[in-house]
Amino acid sequence: MCSRCDYANLLGRSGLHPTPNRLAVLTTVGNSPSPLTAQDIYDRISRAGNINRVTVYRILDLLVAHRLVERLTAGNRTFRFGLAPNRNHPEHAHFLCRRCGAMECLPPDRPRVSTLTAQAEPSGIVERVEVRFEGICRRCLQNQRSGSEDTGSLPP
Ligand SMILES: [Zn+2]
Ligand SMILES: [Zn+2]
Ligand SMILES: [Zn+2]
Repeated sequence: MCSRCDYANLLGRSGLHPTPNRLAVLTTVGNSPSPLTAQDIYDRISRAGNINRVTVYRILDLLVAHRLVERLTAGNRTFRFGLAPNRNHPEHAHFLCRRCGAMECLPPDRPRVSTLTAQAEPSGIVERVEVRFEGICRRCLQNQRSGSEDTGSLPP
């Protein structure tokens, strides 16, 4: 839950009229501690009121185009949506669990990610950086450990 971002103000500053649907999508993305799939966002908003799936997807595209929301690649051509870096939210890397698909935001200083430190000359100007670590999340590791204990106690 973010208390520092004024979502209506963020929309306004990007030249977007803060319609209730846009506000609902941006607030849902912004208040989530980890990036969400478009389906997650649709599920959460449709629980509170009626909105159709296409509207949610269109608004997400609009917010990505205006750089309020970031589209993160999550492997297998799937995407997650998170708040784009802004004054209250520094750029940061993400961790993707290849077993359960959970994506987690890493603290901005571990490791430090910044377009200022990225150099792509002579290829062009770096506008955004996407850093994704892939592996097995803590929860899956724990399940794996307790799972192997179970099989260890089974007779051969
Ligand atoms: Zn915020
Ligand atoms: Zn996992
Ligand atoms: Zn994030």
